Amino acid sequence: MTKRTLIAHLRRLERAARPLEPRAAERRRLRNAVIASTEQFLERLDDVGAYVETADKGLGLLDAPIRDTGISIAQALAHVEHDVVRPGGQPAAPGYLAYIPGGGLYHSALGDYIAAVTNKYAGIFFAGPGAVRMENLLLRWVADLVGYPASAGGNIASGGSIANLIAVATARDAHGISGASTASAVVYLTTQAHHCIEKALRLAGLGDVRLRHVALDARYRMDPEALAGAIADDRAQGLRPWMVIAAAGTTDTGAVDPLEAIGDIARREGCWFHVDAAYGGFFLLTEHGRAIMRGIERSDSVVLDPHKTLFLPYGSGIVLVRDAAQLETTHRYMGHYMQDALREPGDVSPAEVSPELTKHFRALRMWLPLVLLGTRPFAAALDEKLLLARYFRAEVQRLGFEVGPEPDLSVVTYRWAPPGATLDEANALNQAIVERVKHDGRVFLSSTMLDGRFTLRLVAVSFRTHRRTIDLALDVLSSSLP
Ligand SMILES: *Cc1c(COP(=O)(O)O)cnc(C)c1O
Repeated sequence: MTKRTLIAHLRRLERAARPLEPRAAERRRLRNAVIASTEQFLERLDDVGAYVETADKGLGLLDAPIRDTGISIAQALAHVEHDVVRPGGQPAAPGYLAYIPGGGLYHSALGDYIAAVTNKYAGIFFAGPGAVRMENLLLRWVADLVGYPASAGGNIASGGSIANLIAVATARDAHGISGASTASAVVYLTTQAHHCIEKALRLAGLGDVRLRHVALDARYRMDPEALAGAIADDRAQGLRPWMVIAAAGTTDTGAVDPLEAIGDIARREGCWFHVDAAYGGFFLLTEHGRAIMRGIERSDSVVLDPHKTLFLPYGSGIVLVRDAAQLETTHRYMGHYMQDALREPGDVSPAEVSPELTKHFRALRMWLPLVLLGTRPFAAALDEKLLLARYFRAEVQRLGFEVGPEPDLSVVTYRWAPPGATLDEANALNQAIVERVKHDGRVFLSSTMLDGRFTLRLVAVSFRTHRRTIDLALDVLSSSLP
């Protein structure tokens, strides 16, 4: 190719690639269309319901395959609205009271917008010093909330599962669990621990460790005496007690394990003490939360999900490790092509304390709402959720439901158990109630199995859930009774 044909070729390609960079007027047109769509979504959020059953389940999306040429923004948004946003659960809606509800603060969406437009590199201090400082200052804020010392470090990961994986891998290396020692290492947890813990152990190469399910008390919390007993038994058998995993808010019932007592035992026995506070952690912003989670500050590592109780959009999970050096030991790396980046002094980089290198600039979606609003509205919303859970429990009991224990946080368990019904009959009745509520769609509730009993759950976590939503849930439940 001569230089002239090369230049002509380049000119043609540049022209063909031009749609990748819309000009100001085109940007405004696209932005206005997107804003109109999301504004309509927000305006209708109270009426759309919390679960939308559709026959097609978003199948229409397949009518817009990826081709050589594009479609209009109106066509694209029609697919998003009809095929993606509409069908299924509506985690942004106030009536989403199932599983652990999500958030979706608007301020976070705007933070994501800035993060995406500027595409700041948030993995390494050298490339994005401000972005890295922002992540680290947020981690320090959370570390202060937990009560961790200055030695602590952490990472904003994509969610609680990855955050737990980071903690498990760090605990593994800190205690030298590898190869032959794996089979004699013991992890203590309860049957109420989140299933991502077992997944994390397998992913960390620890599928062979022994899992000891410690007995629960009547409120589904780990029994510290049973823990001490299990550790003593294992030692007597020549096993190696390694890690104790407590929950600060189990997913099933919201139970908070007695962290102070468990932490004492873990320390005495030289075990790594991990607290999975993915759901409950940010209740530390409330007085009740601080009281019930006392002892969390003694842990070696902790996980909190801002996309749960800090109301952020999905894709935010935090891990903190008491001794940042241990976190760095596990995630240390070196690429020859990165020699310039790694020589620069400065803050600890996220890439040095997590499996990720290039990452979404997640800090901005957390920083913007916190810095704009301060923490007070967050604390108020969380206190509101705690009270709503108690309100619901009292009212649903009035409707004739059998209720579970007074909630530690904001999960309420209850079931329909008419006198004389066998366990199987009662289970079938409760399953039918869940189905009817889902079909009605105004609120979305979920269920679990507790000691063989099909049990209904209501979880108040969304910042949009207020008393009128709980009253609606009670209405829907009373009209869904057998
Ligand atoms: C939600 C949850 C997890 C998993 O977190 P993801 O963000 O869904 O990956 C882990 N542990 C507990 C207690 C949870 O509630």
